[in-house]
Amino acid sequence: MENLLLAAGHVTAPPEEADVVIINTCAVTGESARKSRQAVRHAKKLNPSAKIVVCGCAAQADEEAARALGADYVGGAGERRAVVEYIESLAAGNSGYAGTVGNPSARREIEQLPAGAFDGHSRAYLKVQDGCGNYCTYCIIPYLRGPVRSLPLEDVAREAARLAEEGYREIVVTGIEVSSYGEDIGADFAALVETAARAAGPARIRLGSLEPSRLDRETVRRLAEIPNLCPHFHLSLQSGSAGVLRRMGRKYTPDGFAAVAEELRSRFFDPALTTDLIVGFPGETEEEHEETLAFLRGIEFAAVHVFPYSVREGTAAARMPGRITNGVKARRAQEAAECARICRRAYLERQVGRTLEVLFERGGERGHSENYLEVAAHGEHGKILPVKITGVREDGALEGHVLPARGRTV
Ligand code: SF4
Repeated sequence: MENLLLAAGHVTAPPEEADVVIINTCAVTGESARKSRQAVRHAKKLNPSAKIVVCGCAAQADEEAARALGADYVGGAGERRAVVEYIESLAAGNSGYAGTVGNPSARREIEQLPAGAFDGHSRAYLKVQDGCGNYCTYCIIPYLRGPVRSLPLEDVAREAARLAEEGYREIVVTGIEVSSYGEDIGADFAALVETAARAAGPARIRLGSLEPSRLDRETVRRLAEIPNLCPHFHLSLQSGSAGVLRRMGRKYTPDGFAAVAEELRSRFFDPALTTDLIVGFPGETEEEHEETLAFLRGIEFAAVHVFPYSVREGTAAARMPGRITNGVKARRAQEAAECARICRRAYLERQVGRTLEVLFERGGERGHSENYLEVAAHGEHGKILPVKITGVREDGALEGHVLPARGRTV
């Protein structure tokens, strides 16, 4: 939306000075929905004369609540261009239309939006997919986003080439459930990554969150042949217990997940395997929690994002018995985070002595390696440079020094 508005000649301003404040909300957890509401209240208070636009998933989930908070315009999770049109009409002197969230299940095509970066970053985001048909029992997203819609391969290629041409050196291929890419248009996930990587030329490709059940051996084999694909795979685990996974409606078992991790490790050199975990799912016993901790230790993830289970009304899990108390959830989250911290430390220490390809940001003093580790070294903003890793800092970043340029440096 920001890119579209800038292209139309508008400028960004601090919220207290802006004519319009856009709050793009999130509903994935109860906490994100709460923060979204808080952001709307805060914007109203900061700048009572601004027009307030509320859009995204929390608005989609509860349009009335968004209006009750004082939104002048409410948009859903699939109508960003309509938001921009509303602002354009305001600029032209009209102010009547108050928006609508639309019907997600009626959405059949992906909304094509200009891919881009967050301000000043060398990494751009290319959204290739929206929607999800998996209906995991805890998740509200399929109800808010609608069915899988994919960006056609030729558009993926065009956008990836444009971003590389504009100087971005890393393109993150994202979506709501990106590994389901193509099921609506007869394409497949590996072809998506091959297409994006070929078109991105000197830029490298990083993949967003993946569903482990979609990464079969043939897909992993094809991915491993892509030279500019980052060896970083965010595989959503959610639980390491077979019983909990079944109740979550996830389409893999812990053994199946471990086999995918093994396959990736056999094809890529020490890839970063990162994940998300939900603790305290309804009915999760101490034994199931222990199974998850053991599984985390077994896989040795490079990073784990731990979330206490959050009830989303309207989902199957919201009706399940055996709610876990907040105290127990917090304790389990803390235990899982401690497990994750130990695994991360081991992964970081394994990097010492290696040479990583770092894309520098922040004025060239820090950047991220191909395996998504933060590296502190003296480089050059916007460039990928080889860095010899010499140590791990207290803050968890790696440190090292830039080596003379090699063939792959861009
Ligand atoms: S695959 Fe992801 S987005 Fe889809 S229902 Fe499951 S958790 Fe939600």
